[in-house]
Amino acid sequence: MRHGSLTNPSTDPTQRNRANLEGKGITMRLIIMGPPGAGKGTQARHVADRHGIPAISTGDIFRANVTAQSPLGQQAQKYMDAGEYVPDAVTNAMVRDRLQLPDCRNGFLLDGYPRTLDQVAELDDLLAGLDAHLDGVLLLAAEPEELVQRLLGRARTEGRADDTETVIRRRLAVYEEQTAPLVGAYEERRLLVAVDGLGEVDEVTDRIHAAVAQLRSESAAF
Ligand code: AMP
Repeated sequence: MRHGSLTNPSTDPTQRNRANLEGKGITMRLIIMGPPGAGKGTQARHVADRHGIPAISTGDIFRANVTAQSPLGQQAQKYMDAGEYVPDAVTNAMVRDRLQLPDCRNGFLLDGYPRTLDQVAELDDLLAGLDAHLDGVLLLAAEPEELVQRLLGRARTEGRADDTETVIRRRLAVYEEQTAPLVGAYEERRLLVAVDGLGEVDEVTDRIHAAVAQLRSESAAF
């Protein structure tokens, strides 16, 4: 089932890095999670470029479909505008389609998915079907008030429809209710690495690269 555009061309990794991975037969399947405004999108692109895997942002895919007014975009828009999650059935079907595309052969970095325990179960099922496993989950941590201020700043520069203060506070609350429980779930599986999201973008990127290196060495040892 495909409702609209699933890809975001700006996140396409460099051919050179992809060729490196293919040559070595290395795969890497990662998740980046964290509250809205923690900087997941920016960091996801850095990690994806460095490792030659696609950064797959469910938020970006939804936004592209809203802009195009595709059936998927029309379904998602009212939830996004209110700061609520798009229903699991819609989101899961979209991710299932996206992960079948050939650029995911050597892995991927999921940004903003899974966000509910139901989505965790769906991803587990999907990976089992591909005979694949997760290598790690990066948690980008930041203080709630810092996040509100960052998101309000972004609203002024980017003008996103879901960046008003009421919607921002709702998005943070929904994260706490529905997504924060995933931290414990992935911690139990020993997949989680927390990274401090505070500070300059470059500093955070360095921490993220170190965290990925740690995950890779643990994955290799396992
Ligand atoms: P983001 O850019 O990741 O903050 O996502 C923007 C909006 O897209 C969210 O507030 C949700 O409405 C929707 N969205 C993105 N990813 C998901 C997901 N995994 N599950 C449900 N809704 C999502």
